[in-house]
Amino acid sequence: MESRAIFTSRSGGKSGAPYGSRNLALHVGDDPELVRQNREDLAHELSIASERLFFMEQNHGVEIQIVDEASDHRKIRTCDALVTSTPQTALAVLVADCAPLLIRGERASAAVHVGWRGLFSGIVEKVLERFAEERFSASIGATICGECYRIGEDLLSQAQERGFVTGAQTLDIPRSILKILHEQSGNRLIAAQWNGTCTFESNEHFSYRREGRTGRQAGVVIHGS
Ligand SMILES: [Zn+2]
Repeated sequence: MESRAIFTSRSGGKSGAPYGSRNLALHVGDDPELVRQNREDLAHELSIASERLFFMEQNHGVEIQIVDEASDHRKIRTCDALVTSTPQTALAVLVADCAPLLIRGERASAAVHVGWRGLFSGIVEKVLERFAEERFSASIGATICGECYRIGEDLLSQAQERGFVTGAQTLDIPRSILKILHEQSGNRLIAAQWNGTCTFESNEHFSYRREGRTGRQAGVVIHGS
């Protein structure tokens, strides 16, 4: 079976306002029992055992954790990327404006959390080192777009120096990720795309900048066999 990449939205869950309805994050103040049900329902939809669906404790760093057949989904440490080569294993990244980046390689798959801090710290490049010997595809789900993501002068000039994609007062995270993917991957990159949905503009998605207290949607990569 081929590896799959899917992105959830607000719809299809059991949580109430302001987490309505498919919040998948335990750290945002939602009822943990409802979040667990939302996660179980998602695993069921993906035809994956719920103990093979892995979430991270994300903190805008560059740590990568490898998931294998012995990994316990309750014991994932703080990290911002998960990588696996174990079939029928699903890796999830939680977001509400940050970019969910999913990579499907010939031998491994990865789920990566990319906000401005991760982008500046080199999380994308660090994950790509894991795919140095194989061809892969990359998908970016709903994230705040390059027109909506306003940043301060300091950060803007640093972003320009680093060659990231910027506007007059904004940082374009999805297009900056695509640029890095194209620059670093050569002919190993089969395809890379952002689905074009902006969380800040879409009522179908959680947006931390728009709502403050809110839920998290997920990008999930299911590693095939
Ligand atoms: Zn936007």
